[in-house]
Amino acid sequence: DMAVTDESVITSASMAIKARLSANENPFGPSPAAKKAIQDALDLSYQYPFMRFSDLTGKIAAYEGIDQKNILMDAGSTPLLHAAAQYYGKNGAEIICGDPSYDDLPRSAAKLGSKLVKVPLTPDYKLDLDAMEAKIGPNTGLIYICNPNNPTATVLDTAKLKAFCERVSKKVTVFIDEAYIDYLPDPQGTTLISGVKAGQNIIVARTFSKLYGFAGLRCGYVVAQPETVKTLSDYATGIMSLSATTVAAAIAGYQEKEFLQAALKKTMESKEYLYSVLKKEGYNYIPSSTNFVMFEIKMDGARFANEMANRGVSIRHWEFNNKNWCRVSIGRMDEMQAFADAFKQLS
Ligand code: PLP
Repeated sequence: DMAVTDESVITSASMAIKARLSANENPFGPSPAAKKAIQDALDLSYQYPFMRFSDLTGKIAAYEGIDQKNILMDAGSTPLLHAAAQYYGKNGAEIICGDPSYDDLPRSAAKLGSKLVKVPLTPDYKLDLDAMEAKIGPNTGLIYICNPNNPTATVLDTAKLKAFCERVSKKVTVFIDEAYIDYLPDPQGTTLISGVKAGQNIIVARTFSKLYGFAGLRCGYVVAQPETVKTLSDYATGIMSLSATTVAAAIAGYQEKEFLQAALKKTMESKEYLYSVLKKEGYNYIPSSTNFVMFEIKMDGARFANEMANRGVSIRHWEFNNKNWCRVSIGRMDEMQAFADAFKQLS
């Protein structure tokens, strides 16, 4: 049983893929500067990259106005989600999470014996903060908040989430997974790193895998109180798992505004095109704050995914609220057109 994450795409080698729209990757990255940094780093890649980490954490700390002691890096955010699952889910503690939400952390905790308290979304497909707060009990180990939420692509009201964190973090640790925050109009005004700065017991996870287009390079981090960083570092893989090439690429690409803006613009164009296709075919979608869109389908989800795969398009399917749903990642325009061609045959 290999460790297959929720986002893994398992496709047969024989299948000709025209559009890979199942893992919320960003085909517009990584940037030319990041790619050049990888090439430049190759000659010195016989060396352990210890010295370069602080260049990266220093850049992040300066941008966010935090201390490097607040940052824990790893090879993507996944090992950090798993570290939190191990620590906060230990001794059968309860993990409160949304349903549906990104289930990697909860699932990893459940495997180690913790109990999942899954809280349905509100009618507008957002995490139900009030209901989640009401579930806090003596045995709660962690509340996992994915904002924006995967798979529904919805974002919480910032003021409401900030007030929630301020209140709830006094009782229990709050984990905020901000994997898709770079797709929002104002990430710095939306991030809960502000709560970490205010001394709250919260953990904010970030990744280079999405807007930066680094999913295959593997680079992510959490921002938390220094004691929490120490605790989690005992469970995480640690900096030994990041390659020198990835660290160099991340340093080169971090907050490269022009390139990231261009990627955002292309994502928006592809998304608008997808919306128009769905509208034309008479399908309801959840307005998306991310690089993926969730919409209701009119046939069994597994069958739909299979029919799409047979046409070279990979997507993901869900079932909730007694309905079948498709989650389609936003790709290049040619990929969205391949999606539209296949979809029209089925709708
Ligand atoms: N968190 C969320 C909400 C995600 O959707 C994903 C990947 O799809 C991850 C975390 C893991 O990303 P990575 O390990 O590449 O940082």
